[in-house]
Amino acid sequence: MTQHNFSAGPAVLPVVVREKLSQALAPRTDGQPSIAEVSHRGPVFAAVAEELNERLRRLMGLVDDQHLLLLHGGANLQFAWLPMTVASGRIPAYLTSGYWGEKALAEARRIGPAEEVGSSKAIGFTDVPEMGHLPERCAYLHYTGNETIHGVQFERPPVAAVPLAADLSSEFLSRPYPYRELAFAYAGAQKNLGIPGLTVVVIRQDLLDRSPDTLPNYLDYRKWVNSNSMLNTPATLAWYTALETCRWIDSCGGLAFFQKRNRERAQRLYDVIDRSDFWSNPVAGHARSVINVPFFPADAKRSPDVVSKAESAGLLGLKGHRALGGLRASLYNALDNAAVEILIDFLGDYERRYG
Ligand code: PMP
Repeated sequence: MTQHNFSAGPAVLPVVVREKLSQALAPRTDGQPSIAEVSHRGPVFAAVAEELNERLRRLMGLVDDQHLLLLHGGANLQFAWLPMTVASGRIPAYLTSGYWGEKALAEARRIGPAEEVGSSKAIGFTDVPEMGHLPERCAYLHYTGNETIHGVQFERPPVAAVPLAADLSSEFLSRPYPYRELAFAYAGAQKNLGIPGLTVVVIRQDLLDRSPDTLPNYLDYRKWVNSNSMLNTPATLAWYTALETCRWIDSCGGLAFFQKRNRERAQRLYDVIDRSDFWSNPVAGHARSVINVPFFPADAKRSPDVVSKAESAGLLGLKGHRALGGLRASLYNALDNAAVEILIDFLGDYERRYG
């Protein structure tokens, strides 16, 4: 039986990327080392790094004063690293639309004062928040472009006269995005750009210039800019996988292709959920995520049964996050359209039998 992977991350890879990885790692009779076995400072890996930087900058449409960094540590490290670098006497502001935004704010508060200028917590994170007043001497406004657990997505960046900082983890490269409006952005590779171990960060020069000299070298973004993201050994296999993923995105027609496809199939899934008396999704229409679709059976206690029957039908990774329960379908670029159709059939079938 064909299996379909709806995991929120690490997530499904494009078939061609899996093929490239297996070719790249396959043992060779001539003993030639694979991409994962050569120096990150040698010519073979240098070519990977150069092309990856070039393709990512182009896909994102970055401008000259935006630095692209390829780092370790995931989005979680950026929750702390950003305020450590950029706050310096100013107050960071946070718009909170779900679990990850709350986590980012909590980390910022471990570094210094930070203000929550809007939250949709009171309505169970079923919408994007209204924005209140920004603090005077505001360091930046942070938002989570797409809340992976609550399934809440900003259609476009909030409007504010301060630098914008965006956690784009789960919507990275899922559509053309106005990256050039952002002073700071970050995303782990393990959703739409390959495998865990690589974190993409964009930092604009004016924020870079705020770096305090007291930080350890490793936590000084300037050192990463000056070393072309090679302050220490990079996650070479994750970089290589990211390069093959970028090539695949380009070969499919770029981000515009995925925007159209991702929107259409998410809409099909939401339509089925909305038409049903059994399945539901509580998020306001304009804020529904195109990427992560949480949904619930009428009787919440049924969720584990749905997950297990889905697994038996070859639909994997549908268990909702422990913070929210229910189910969640993650529809990353590499997921086949056929998988969404099979899920839709499964939901109809389950409702007919048990609804
Ligand atoms: N932010 C968002 C929106 C996420 O979806 C995730 C991971 N699911 C994280 C942050 C944490 O990412 P990481 O594991 O790379 O630290």
